[in-house]
Amino acid sequence: MTSPDCNDWHWQLAHCITSHEQLSHLPGYISPTAEQLACARQYPMLATPFYLSLAKSAAQDDPIIRQCLPQPAECEDSAEKDPLGEREASPVPRLVHRYHDRALFVTCGSCAVHCRHCMRKRVWETPLPPPTDAELVACTDYLRRHPEVREVLISGGDPLTLEDDNIARVLDAFASVPTIEMLRIGSRTLVALPQRYTDELCRILGNCGKTVWLASHFNHPQEISPEAESAVLRLMRNGVAVVNQTVLLKGINDDADVLAKLFTGLLRIRIKPYYLFHGDPVHGTICFRTGIDAGVKIMGQLRKRISGMALPAFAIDLPQGGGKVRIEPDSFAGLAPDNTRMYYDLEGCAVLYPETTIANPHIS
Ligand SMILES: *Cc1c(COP(=O)(O)O)cnc(C)c1O
Repeated sequence: MTSPDCNDWHWQLAHCITSHEQLSHLPGYISPTAEQLACARQYPMLATPFYLSLAKSAAQDDPIIRQCLPQPAECEDSAEKDPLGEREASPVPRLVHRYHDRALFVTCGSCAVHCRHCMRKRVWETPLPPPTDAELVACTDYLRRHPEVREVLISGGDPLTLEDDNIARVLDAFASVPTIEMLRIGSRTLVALPQRYTDELCRILGNCGKTVWLASHFNHPQEISPEAESAVLRLMRNGVAVVNQTVLLKGINDDADVLAKLFTGLLRIRIKPYYLFHGDPVHGTICFRTGIDAGVKIMGQLRKRISGMALPAFAIDLPQGGGKVRIEPDSFAGLAPDNTRMYYDLEGCAVLYPETTIANPHIS
């Protein structure tokens, strides 16, 4: 990261690390095994020099390395490639309409980092170019026939790896539908390519005519950089607010200390933690799953320790299009002998909650 061009996002994407050997300058580097190389052929490695500069060593226990270096366990599971049935929920190519008032648009296949735990790993296998004008028209026609859709999630791949003119074309298309109120862009670029947030891009995002939210994907406090912090400020100055979706990842962030640091660190740089997802059962990612109980336990520990503002919702995405479901510890502790309700406090003790009310003649 010493090149004068490293602040340029095109330079970052043009110099992505795609092989184990390119990490050989890092402490802890070990030559790849045959199994690792075989896995890297099925699911290729890709990471910006900036993302790898966040690693402290090349060892597998580094949270950055673990998220981008192919490991044999990825090729050992027999899970499905599309367990959420996104293909079936697609009324027109690239659009997934599963929830009443929201639709998801698959913008492209390119990314700034190939996350080993990616829930759309199947998209890596067939490169998906940016949408044609005809594809965008098919999507906006569908949305005009479905005025119940208020929000489009611009997803991918990573839409912000596209050029400004392509991003503007996509945003303008969806913004032209009168019933669309909001666009939500899912991107990992705040983590892996914060150089992408040029004044021009932030202006495009903030001035497309509809409210734009960015949904980022930070998984570990080591990913919170000064570059990301200043990019968030540029977004906010243009009216774009940022939330974060974290995936609970075995050996990376399945620990209350790590997540407390991550979620409070995100709030400090003005990003609201939104979801903590349990990993979907997608082929090539099972080795990162923790089990739901691990997540519930960590959420219980976090609830005692950090601000409610910093707490995301722990959620799973049900297979075959069942949708996202929040998993919350049961707070109702039953009824006392006099029928007063009881709730568990943060220490797990049942506490009486009297529901005393009085009649107010001004409110019926
Ligand atoms: C996750 C998702 C959404 C958005 O769900 P929220 O709960 O609003 O974040 C919309 N459409 C699809 C297909 C999704 O997978």
